[in-house]
Amino acid sequence: MNDRDTRHQQAMQRLKSRVDEKVAEATEQRGLLLVFTGNGKGKTTAAWGTVTRALGYGYRVGVVQFIKGLWECGERERLVEDSNLEVAIMATGFTWDTQNREADTRACREVWAKAERMLADPDVYLVVLDEITYMLKFGYLDIETVKRALENRPAEQTVIITGRNAHRELTAMADTVTEMQEVRHAFNSGVQARRGIDY
Ligand code: ATP
Ligand code: MG
Repeated sequence: MNDRDTRHQQAMQRLKSRVDEKVAEATEQRGLLLVFTGNGKGKTTAAWGTVTRALGYGYRVGVVQFIKGLWECGERERLVEDSNLEVAIMATGFTWDTQNREADTRACREVWAKAERMLADPDVYLVVLDEITYMLKFGYLDIETVKRALENRPAEQTVIITGRNAHRELTAMADTVTEMQEVRHAFNSGVQARRGIDY
């Protein structure tokens, strides 16, 4: 082995022992709270990816879609055939179209009641609260109510929260927080949202 190979091998050994140490330290087993936020694309896609993952092992999953409920969504079309998946959709669909605060608040509370049931059900392994950050931002839901439901959920249940501008109390209590950073988005160059790619 030449010097370069030896140095590489040593570096890999050091890396391996660091990773092994971390793996050994991670002994806790429980459900997680994940927040996918930021302005870049990929938050909802990542949530549906995780839904697929959980369904793949036969776990029960609940997805609550705030705001974009009436939009098409390819993952939902496909996965809803799985009897382990329950989807709850906010009735008015798209807030920026309706601009009716009272109706939106009512619709939000209705779908939140379904979310609360999922968050109280120990048989539901994963709950996705898609775009719930806007409900808090618009004041349709208050942070204390959401926090309480999250804190009291079954210990084995994982929750994923998606949406821009996540409330700092949510990111503070989350186990995993990912901020999608927008480097570029096609929409800003005038390219339309693409079926099967963007929704
Ligand atoms: P996706 O659903 O593709 O994972 P997202 O959940 O991260 O995106 P949202 O803010 O919920 O992003 O926006 C949903 C829709 O807007 C999708 O069609 C997505 O492609 C598009 N979109 C996402 N990020 C941006 C952006 N930075 N500029 C313009 N459009 C965006
Ligand atoms: Mg989204």
